[in-house]
Amino acid sequence: MGDSVRATTAFNEIIDARVPRVALVDTFGDEKFESMAVAEALGKDLYGVRLDTTSSRRGDFARILEEVRWELDLRGHGHVRLFASGGITERNIAALNPVVDAYGIGTSITAAPTVDYALDIVEVQGKPVAKRGKRSGAKDFYRCADCLEDIIVPLDAQPPPCRLCGRKAHPLLVTAMENGRRTSPPEAPAVIREKVLRSLERLDVEPI
Ligand SMILES: [Zn+2]
Repeated sequence: MGDSVRATTAFNEIIDARVPRVALVDTFGDEKFESMAVAEALGKDLYGVRLDTTSSRRGDFARILEEVRWELDLRGHGHVRLFASGGITERNIAALNPVVDAYGIGTSITAAPTVDYALDIVEVQGKPVAKRGKRSGAKDFYRCADCLEDIIVPLDAQPPPCRLCGRKAHPLLVTAMENGRRTSPPEAPAVIREKVLRSLERLDVEPI
């Protein structure tokens, strides 16, 4: 339809009044001026404006949203809510929260960072067989609870002590279920949480 005001006005005329009117405001024009224009055109009928600014045009998204909020409030459109979409991630969302009422989030949820891994045949009918670059044979897997150092040994072999702290590592491959039944009671959520937080301290990860 060429511009946000025409499109939103037509939508407002035709669509069931129970559907909230949310105008996409930055498709062709400036976020601030289009927001003001649709707010003037629809008045109390306007539920919100959505900013879907592409990151290449965005600059400081939080500042743009603050500016839109300010201009709408100043003109008596305090009821108009702000929706933000496009490139919202767990890292930039905190800065937008004070001014944004709702989000549309796609990519950062649907396309998580990948954990690269492969499944390889390492043993055939008891015989160790593996492609180049993979250690053959069935294995046991231990981890040092203090250093998070992993120790891989042939199946049923005793693990050496942790090479960093010299302590005994604990096995990670434990039977949790047999014939569809738990073989030991589940850990309490608080215990799991404590364990994860302790592990995170030792990992070199960026805090979210
Ligand atoms: Zn250790």
